[in-house]
Amino acid sequence: MMTQIRSRLGIKIFLSYIIVIVVGVLVLAVSTEFAIPGAFDRHLGDMQDMMMRNSSMMGMMGNLEEGIFSNFRAAVNEALLFATIAAVAAALVVSVFVSRRVVAPVRELMSASQHIASGHYEDRVNVPESGSFDELDELGQLALSFNRMAENLEQTETMRRQLIGDVTHELSTPLTTIKGSMEGLMDGVLPANQDTFQQVFREADRLQRLVDDLQELSRVEARAYELDLRPIRLGLLVNDVISHLQTQFQEKKVKLGANIHPDLPSVLVDEDRITQVLTNLIGNALQYTPEGGKVEVSAMSSGDDVHISIADTGIGIAAEDLPHLFTRFYRVEKSRSRAGGGSGIGLTIARHLVEAHGGRIWVESPGPGKGSTFTFAMPVQH
Ligand code: ADP
Repeated sequence: MMTQIRSRLGIKIFLSYIIVIVVGVLVLAVSTEFAIPGAFDRHLGDMQDMMMRNSSMMGMMGNLEEGIFSNFRAAVNEALLFATIAAVAAALVVSVFVSRRVVAPVRELMSASQHIASGHYEDRVNVPESGSFDELDELGQLALSFNRMAENLEQTETMRRQLIGDVTHELSTPLTTIKGSMEGLMDGVLPANQDTFQQVFREADRLQRLVDDLQELSRVEARAYELDLRPIRLGLLVNDVISHLQTQFQEKKVKLGANIHPDLPSVLVDEDRITQVLTNLIGNALQYTPEGGKVEVSAMSSGDDVHISIADTGIGIAAEDLPHLFTRFYRVEKSRSRAGGGSGIGLTIARHLVEAHGGRIWVESPGPGKGSTFTFAMPVQH
């Protein structure tokens, strides 16, 4: 009951009206209690006077009634006056109290929203101390939602700043190399031969890939694409991707094997998007597995999901890096991966695509040099 009252602003305002009415009625009752005996006494006094004067009762009856009535009216008016004064005083006290409780948080919200609008995303409003969202009244809930909104805005702003910093950094490296080579060529320090042109071309190519990756990242992050969901046999899809990548594996002398469970249920997915995820994960496995290593792709049912795993015997990942791999621009070894053309965006895109299908993606590794296993789970629709 008390929590219900505490969590409803409407009930609080209603109760404050009731308090004003009750105070008015109480004062009216009390003052009536005191005024009526006085009026009665006056009436009896009048009666006695009349009896003593012994005048004609019949003739005086009209005046007597009038006297009693005016006394009574005066008493009621007095009582009403007291009641009005007391009710107005009570209304003043209650309304000051209520408006403090209602207007103060609204004012605070208004000034915080103006602050946030002018770029101070760290601003928050006071939330009444309470156990949970449901125990707060509507104003408390509004303050809590406002703080959550401010927190999200602050996070988005931090991410935006970080993104700009990261992108600038990623773009500046190949640009510096290209500029350096061109200067070298113009000054005659670098020979105008095939090697120099190849170097410039490689850097320009890296820039191109980075820009393509960024475009793709912004599309998937903004969910600016439609999923063309169809029931697909993931085993067949995995085999397709494997046969496409086989030549690259043979060139690097890394074995590529598959272990597909025969009775996998079909899963509702966008074939192109899942092919993109598989190509990225198997491509990474190839990139980070040295010659003579092995990559195995397996697909099996697990509860309500189909699990696809890509296990390699490659360079592995340290435990402290594992939680960050799906964060954009995160690379375990910055220089090595950049030299290989990696921008640290592929896994972020893969995670977005898997999650857009209602799935999950994660990585396990016993440590550096011990290989790693990337797995994604796709829910089976019943
Ligand atoms: P990149 O384009 O740099 O490969 P990704 O997002 O695909 O970007 O991968 C992020 C980082 O995760 C890589 O730079 C690399 O350090 C690490 N990584 C990804 N796959 C593997 C793997 N199979 N084995 C070891 N490290 C990996």
